[in-house]
Amino acid sequence: MIDVQHVRKVFQTPDGEVVALNDISLTIPTGAMVALMGPSGSGKTTLLNIIGAMDVPTSGTVTLDAVRVDTMHADERAVFRKRIGFVFQRFALIATASAYENMEFALRIAGVDRAQWHTRILRALDILDMNDHAHHRPAELSGGQQQRIAVARAMCIEPSILIVDEPTANLDSQRGAAVLSLFRNYAANGTTIVMSTHDPTSEKYATSICRLRAGAIEAYTTAPSVNR
Ligand code: ADP
Ligand code: MG
Repeated sequence: MIDVQHVRKVFQTPDGEVVALNDISLTIPTGAMVALMGPSGSGKTTLLNIIGAMDVPTSGTVTLDAVRVDTMHADERAVFRKRIGFVFQRFALIATASAYENMEFALRIAGVDRAQWHTRILRALDILDMNDHAHHRPAELSGGQQQRIAVARAMCIEPSILIVDEPTANLDSQRGAAVLSLFRNYAANGTTIVMSTHDPTSEKYATSICRLRAGAIEAYTTAPSVNR
């Protein structure tokens, strides 16, 4: 479960303070898949970074799996993050490493027993239909293929929380739907997923929708799909 209470995030810039998040309170039950929607600049990425324990709020509390992370030191948060999977907007794949090696690196960081690496990597590549590209480097892959490797890399560590920034931005609608439906399956199996998106089809797969505007929650609703 993810519990965010009264979170405020202020960035100091040469032009003064930017209030990216203003009094955000949000509870996300285990196994939910939340679509974070809102215009560019509304605070989606900032909130994902805070929920993923990458960044800390200026004030307010963040509790993940019953552990307060906002009060942790940076090195404690780094250890805690081993249970969190990330798919970043710009993928953040290691350019000099193959897809396979990128996944090995993630498994090493997450502290997964080496004996499990090969099986987990092949399974994730298979699910994402990327087996034929295991030994390609990112530059040898299309944007959509890099996206799928980034998803495979996050999933192979079997995270309890998965944070995704714009999962379908670089995918055609069919592949986008495939990735969303995959996420929905992971959520049904107990992974809690928070994803930012502009894509209206995300609403069909999410269990709830959180709409942000100017750093505040405008609405937090159960998705229509849950009632179908
Ligand atoms: P979104 O992902 O919805 O487009 P962001 O969370 O990236 O929105 O940004 C929210 C606001 O915070 C924007 O005004 C953005 O310019 C500002 N912001 C985000 N990150 C930083 C930063 N590191 N330094 C200064 N301002 C930032
Ligand atoms: Mg963003």
